[in-house]
Amino acid sequence: MEGNDFNFKSHIIFGVCFYVILSTFIDVEISYYGIIGVMIGSLIPDMDHPKSKINNKILPFQNKIVMMIVYVALGCYLILYSRGDKYTLVILGFILLFTGLSKHRTFTHSLVGIGLFYMLLWNIGIQYNVKELTNAVVFGIILHVIADFLTVKGIQLFYPASKKNFKFIMTVSTGGIGELVVVVAIILLTINIVAGSPMNLEKLLSFLGNT
Ligand SMILES: [Zn+2]
Repeated sequence: MEGNDFNFKSHIIFGVCFYVILSTFIDVEISYYGIIGVMIGSLIPDMDHPKSKINNKILPFQNKIVMMIVYVALGCYLILYSRGDKYTLVILGFILLFTGLSKHRTFTHSLVGIGLFYMLLWNIGIQYNVKELTNAVVFGIILHVIADFLTVKGIQLFYPASKKNFKFIMTVSTGGIGELVVVVAIILLTINIVAGSPMNLEKLLSFLGNT
């Protein structure tokens, strides 16, 4: 990955920590489905980078041309051969097509991209009765985009309408010590919140007790 990006492990830690923090504020149980879903979601937006964790597994060669050919071909195939009656596959087709045609940190990190991911996962959740898992994946995707919004490079939130890069007033430097400090701070914040909330501590202990 580029020097401007968080490591995939940092994205997973952000996702899981904020999932645990959120469970303090809204009354959701911490579950395996939730944690696995958030972990998967944390990796999804970087499917637009040939050397990302997801593409290491999917692509035969990790370069931009191969990535574009594979994503565009698969996307077109799904759109054309689903014939409009398999709504979920058509949405997936468009996501793959747009990902193949767009640059890193544009479509998959934009409001349009998040909207399409949401539609896809909402449908999958209902079709296969796995809403807990798919909601957690959406949460992981949003957390990933928020984390990238905090970096120097920022994100193209309104892509394709605008190619303006958006970033927070204060940014975090990625890679090396800067990223490590942020990751450790978030872990400590999570521990602090969990320990400070007897309800959440109870939830976490009952989750660990069931493992
Ligand atoms: Zn990213």
